[in-house]
Amino acid sequence: MLIGVPAETVPGETRVAVTSETAKKLTAQGHTVRVQSGAGVTAAITDAAYQAAGAEITDAAGAFACELVLKVRAPSEAELPLVKPGTIVVGMLNPFDAEGLQRLAAAGVTGFALEAAPRTTRAQSMDVLSSQANIAGYKAVMIAADKYQRFFPMLMTAAGTVKAARVVILGVGVAGLQAIATAKRLGAVIEASDVRPSVKEQVESLGAKFIDVPYETQEEKEAAEGVGGYARPMPPSWLERQKVEVAKRVALADVVITTALIPGRPAPVLVTEDMVKAMKPGSVIVDLAAPQGGNCPLTEPGRTVIKHGVTLVGETNLPALVAADASSLYARNVLDFLKLVLPKEGGFKIDLEDDIVAACLMTRDGQVTRK
Ligand code: NAD
Repeated sequence: MLIGVPAETVPGETRVAVTSETAKKLTAQGHTVRVQSGAGVTAAITDAAYQAAGAEITDAAGAFACELVLKVRAPSEAELPLVKPGTIVVGMLNPFDAEGLQRLAAAGVTGFALEAAPRTTRAQSMDVLSSQANIAGYKAVMIAADKYQRFFPMLMTAAGTVKAARVVILGVGVAGLQAIATAKRLGAVIEASDVRPSVKEQVESLGAKFIDVPYETQEEKEAAEGVGGYARPMPPSWLERQKVEVAKRVALADVVITTALIPGRPAPVLVTEDMVKAMKPGSVIVDLAAPQGGNCPLTEPGRTVIKHGVTLVGETNLPALVAADASSLYARNVLDFLKLVLPKEGGFKIDLEDDIVAACLMTRDGQVTRK
């Protein structure tokens, strides 16, 4: 199969869908890999490294003129004219972007969105949401530590004692867990909140404290269980009680990292303007939900701003700030997904009996097929 790897063109997107490691594996399987010149540069992969892995270097048109195109982000409107009808595109195509999918379908693309893979054990090795959220959680803490003008660990020095930073993490999925682990390594004291009760044990096993907000009605319990491991919107009664508990912690916090998301919906507001006003000057909020509107209404997506004396970081693509590792994990996810669609005997197979393939298939034969 002829496989193309274009350079990403979304501003700030530094990742690449194929690394020299995965290019080598694909060429060893008998595929021809064409990488756009410079595609890996921001992820620390030179054209020479791709060539050493057996790939050919081409231009953007050459990378798109392939049977299978591997991308990080969906082809933009400017890129689509380079994509021939019938091309298969695998990437993070954003399953909730109805207009984007419509454009892909209209261009005749057979599109697979890896974010749509089920959260099952079999799909774990190709779970791009997890591999990238893990990086986002780590980088959020690194940025917070950089913006915060004090130490994270408790220090006893000849000049006196410095208190450990108090970190509050709101939303404990993959990103939140990594944020807890990273902040813990830096010596912070951590409290965390999530709607899902199963998270409590994970939070405590990482040495953080869980902010308990008991479920008082059957409706609250059922909502908290979520669907397929994901959160569902919680009833207002529970959210009100959560807000009271969270407000107390946020007022005492030095750093707040918010990661709360509900798939396909705007992010829930967890840190209100009043809560920000009550925070200590010099505190930092890193809002990982910024691309979905933010968990704090004061967050400005894509910007770092200071409001009421608090630094708010609205970075919208944290994995891209750790481009080399983010690419290397993403490229392995892609490679694992390809095992399901590239049979050893050659060609491209779309087996709709396979739950992962069926879930990821977004567009085919000019239609949006997203389930
Ligand atoms: P996510 O990014 O969709 O959401 C982040 C977190 O925000 C979630 O934990 C969610 O419960 C929480 N949240 C939503 N509303 C909230 C609110 N009002 N207050 C506080 N927290 C709120 O989550 P994710 O990281 O994609 O993980 C989703 C689920 O998938 C988790 O249960 C995770 O363990 C599971 N998972 C399973 C696998 C697997 O089995 N292969 C792999 C990865 C993740």
